[in-house]
Amino acid sequence: MPDDTTRDFSRTLVTSALPYANGHIHLGHIAGAYLPADIYVRYQRLRGTKVLYVGGSDEYGVPITLTALKEGVTPQDVIDRYHTANADAFARLGISYDIYGRTSWDLHADTTQQFFRMLDAGGHIHQQEMELWYSPQLERFLPDRYVKGSCPRCGYTEANGDECESCGAQYTAKELVSPRSNVPGDDSSPVLRPSKHWFLNLPDFTERLKTWLDSHPEWRANVKGIAYGWVNDLRPRCITRDTDWGVPIPVDGDEAKAKRIYVWFDAPIGYVTNTRQWGMDTQGDAKAWELWWKDAGTRMLHFIGKDNVPFHAVIFPAMLMGQGGYNLADHVVGNEYLNIFNRRTGQSEKGSKSKGNMISVRWALDNFSVNAIRYYLCAIAPESKDADFDWDDFMNRYNGELCDVVGNFAHRSLTMTVKNFDGRVPEPGEIEAGDAAMLNAIGEQAEAIAEAMEGFRFRQAIERFIDLGRKANVYFDAMQPWVTRKTDLARTATTLYVCCQVVRGLCVLMAPFMPEGAAKLAGILNVTLPQGGPDGGSDAWKLLVEPLAAGAPLNTPEVLFPKLDKDVLAELAEVHLRGEAY
Ligand SMILES: [Zn+2]
Repeated sequence: MPDDTTRDFSRTLVTSALPYANGHIHLGHIAGAYLPADIYVRYQRLRGTKVLYVGGSDEYGVPITLTALKEGVTPQDVIDRYHTANADAFARLGISYDIYGRTSWDLHADTTQQFFRMLDAGGHIHQQEMELWYSPQLERFLPDRYVKGSCPRCGYTEANGDECESCGAQYTAKELVSPRSNVPGDDSSPVLRPSKHWFLNLPDFTERLKTWLDSHPEWRANVKGIAYGWVNDLRPRCITRDTDWGVPIPVDGDEAKAKRIYVWFDAPIGYVTNTRQWGMDTQGDAKAWELWWKDAGTRMLHFIGKDNVPFHAVIFPAMLMGQGGYNLADHVVGNEYLNIFNRRTGQSEKGSKSKGNMISVRWALDNFSVNAIRYYLCAIAPESKDADFDWDDFMNRYNGELCDVVGNFAHRSLTMTVKNFDGRVPEPGEIEAGDAAMLNAIGEQAEAIAEAMEGFRFRQAIERFIDLGRKANVYFDAMQPWVTRKTDLARTATTLYVCCQVVRGLCVLMAPFMPEGAAKLAGILNVTLPQGGPDGGSDAWKLLVEPLAAGAPLNTPEVLFPKLDKDVLAELAEVHLRGEAY
């Protein structure tokens, strides 16, 4: 097991959980697995690190075929619709994937089957007979959500074949009480029938998983708690289903033909598939992916919501161990949930389709700026505990922090500079102690932000960013350039020279969080931010110690962050309460 303190990473592979192509992504998803990853990746690109960000749609499994059956369309229609919609929503929100792939690609069947064969060859896969519900009318098995009934634990009458959404219990199909078919038009009573399935023998990996988890004391407590809970009670896990929508099982014979690989086996392998596709697309190199998955100099990070912890901190690592030669994750960044604060009841509630309280990304983007959405979701990021999305808090945080502190400082500094110094950064006079302290604060806050970013504390990082804006406003108010410009133009020049340096600092430091705001500000300042990427680049933190030259031309300042209007927001909150924000 490599020791993190001695490993020298020269590149970073970042993944975000593959969203299921059976619905529109919502703000809860964004706060959990996507925005933190994107902020981290954009930060690493700015620093010149070689970083690759891989995502995509998870497109197999029973919920998708069920949607297709109910709508009278094909599963392909369903995944095409949601893959396109979600890829578009991510792009609009500035989630900057290097590739957004699909598990329905042929290449993915190839990758998944290689994983299966390798595990089989290593003796980690066996067959076992199970009793499963079967529809005599449809003459087919009813996997997972194809059958409904009463939960054997809590009695909830809308429980699925394998799990209860009410109490969270997981059970074997035959434990379900009073089963009924969930397929439209099927009036027959399900019966139990034997079916042979393939199982991954997870207990083979118990010791190696423990050693690996023990080597990561730095992970968040929530992730480690869930992972150890699983590792201490590992059982063989069924990795196939009676369905025709999924990756074919690479085994000869009729028995395998009627079944497919279970979606939870193939979905994380999608990260590998999409890296393979990226290598071919960008370099025409079918082997380029191996550097990102097998080279000891690559660090791998998974960003996920906490419901995904068992798959990324236990099952997928076991599957990788069974391949040989693959790196294991260096960090699994698992977030808690973003709940919804209900204005009418005054209660925090879980986002759910049945409650109709979820806010889709597409709806949010139709009504708010990318800057506002990204700012608020990062400021309340559910890192160590659940957080609430609350409309009043949204307005107060965005208006009171991003607009009033950072936007206002940038705007008044630039407007006064352009007006009084011929549209150029002024030539400074003597730098006094207060000026020097302000200039030093740029580098100090940049270091504090870097430290928070490296520790995956994005809430703290964005607070440090706002702190720089606060310090800058204090400086501006103390120096009173609007007074000194009538009495001491040299002093005013020095003040506004310092302010221009701070604005440029804010522009660089803003870029991971609010890329759209940073791009606009960079345009006003005539500054080019490094793009970075898988090949690395220059370190933008260096920009923060080299001053913006006196005499450099500035463009006409614009309002970076327009304020949210209270009445408009109240109307939109009502739309949300009616369940129409999806
Ligand atoms: Zn239950």
